[in-house]
Amino acid sequence: MSSQVHEFHAEARQLLDLVVHSIYSNKDSFLRELISNSSDALDKLRLASLRDSDLDSDVSDLHVRLTPDAQARTLTVADNGIGMSREDVVDLIGTVAKSGTAKMRQALAEAGDAGASEELIGQFGIGFYSAFMVAERVTMVTRKAGESVGTRWESTGDGTYTVDEAPDAAPGTAITLSLKPADADNALHDYADPQVLRGLVKKYSDFIAWPIRMSETVEVPADEDGGEPTVEQVDATLNSQKALWAKSKDEVSAEEYAEFYRHLSHNWDEPLETISLHAEGTFEYQALMFLPSQPPLDMFARERSGGLHLYVRRVFITDDGAELLPEYLRFVQGVVDANDLSLNVSRELLQQDRQIRAIRRRLVKKVIGTVQELQDRRPDDYASFWTNFGQVFKEGLVNDPDNFQAILKASVFESTRESDQPTTLADYVERCPAEQKVIYYMTGETRQQIERSPHLEGFRAKGIEVLLLSDPVDEVWTSSMPEYDGRQFVSVAKGEAALDDDADAETDGADRDAEFADLMAWLTEVLEADVSQTRLTKRLTDSAACLVGDTFSMSPQLEKLYRASGQ
Ligand code: ADP
Ligand code: MG
Repeated sequence: MSSQVHEFHAEARQLLDLVVHSIYSNKDSFLRELISNSSDALDKLRLASLRDSDLDSDVSDLHVRLTPDAQARTLTVADNGIGMSREDVVDLIGTVAKSGTAKMRQALAEAGDAGASEELIGQFGIGFYSAFMVAERVTMVTRKAGESVGTRWESTGDGTYTVDEAPDAAPGTAITLSLKPADADNALHDYADPQVLRGLVKKYSDFIAWPIRMSETVEVPADEDGGEPTVEQVDATLNSQKALWAKSKDEVSAEEYAEFYRHLSHNWDEPLETISLHAEGTFEYQALMFLPSQPPLDMFARERSGGLHLYVRRVFITDDGAELLPEYLRFVQGVVDANDLSLNVSRELLQQDRQIRAIRRRLVKKVIGTVQELQDRRPDDYASFWTNFGQVFKEGLVNDPDNFQAILKASVFESTRESDQPTTLADYVERCPAEQKVIYYMTGETRQQIERSPHLEGFRAKGIEVLLLSDPVDEVWTSSMPEYDGRQFVSVAKGEAALDDDADAETDGADRDAEFADLMAWLTEVLEADVSQTRLTKRLTDSAACLVGDTFSMSPQLEKLYRASGQ
């Protein structure tokens, strides 16, 4: 196939425009993005060669290489990883291949000024395109493992790119940046300077598992026989390649953890909390997990991959470790490195593996425990966690019966109490009067809708706190009539709940019954077809009547939910 000029997809063009013209201050981060992509490509090639013995690729010396050229003012970042086919290049590079595209586009459209777009870059991360922050032209030569012909891609970031055949391309990917003129007053950002590159790798990419090499000039001193001092080119490895998950928490700085988190998650935020776990005994493994401080763009997308990355004895196996954590913890990012799994373990085997199941049980407990600790010790961080992930976390109340109580404890709930902060159940129980032995709640679609309900009138009048539950899952877990701390959850919209049988009802109860007997008889007759019973109640103060369900019946919301799902 011959040379072709392509246009970037609209949203990619928009993004590129922003990148090229942005004044985003952290231009250095382009290097970690390119190295991160190379590292992924090397992981993929090693894995492919493990899985497919016919794949004729040399995996004996997988590495990344940086080649700066001060005269030509170029920098090449190359790897001998999996590479890309021509189609890959067009699909992956010509479009914004990430799942958050729609949201990103919307955010771009809303971001008018430069300041806002700068923030956007920080928020979303721009991967490969970040090269255009520092380069006026980017040339990529790549050849996919198993293919004989390579592809050459080139663009100045102005809306179009060219794609050509590259018959003699080496396996893997080489990306050459024609650097913009260096800031005269800031030599620290001269990306053709080996010392600058060395510093950036140390800062952002030290933990990368593959060697990042660069040829450096060193002076060899004169030897004893009176020879002249000479200058030699030697290959240096710039990163320490240490697996952070194998280290104990006090050996690693917060900044190192943060960089690793960004590399893993492809997010750009800081981790809210870092969880490190070293298990010994029957199954040996190390885990390093992060709670993000920002929700990912695709948290509610059904087909999103993600979860933990699985390694076996330092060898990357998969970044779709869906088996390692349940869905309701899908916001957790991290790595599990298991000692005793086979490198060939397939997805199907993973699902059945006893070891994986044991690891999963332990990780789940650890994550819930960590959320609980946040709640106890860092209220502000907990509040932000809850805003971002609470709704997802609560899915566990429905899907993980084994950990129901722990999840309940680590959750918070809106209530009729005067406060803009939701309450823990422990605090609810502490506030409620000694004689109240149950936890009152009401479900509905929104807090506002619940608050308008006549069912709450009597409780409000008596100052009894009621939980206001408006997440879809609330309907489901409450319907199994759970307990917390020995106290049953009781719906104020169901059955005898509540106020009818309390102390002062007894004194005038009989009089009241007599007074309203005729009315009740008439109502029962008229409504016979529609309701199973009519009752006098004290639960209302302003409204004349309300409908309640049986203690054991479904709430209207749950009925709706079931109807919607076709049951
Ligand atoms: P992300 O890394 O978050 O997927 P990028 O913009 O950094 O997004 O990269 C887009 C895609 O391009 C990658 O997912 C990968 O498939 C492909 N890619 C980028 N760099 C390389 C590389 N060096 N080798 C192979 N594929 C690459
Ligand atoms: Mg990337």
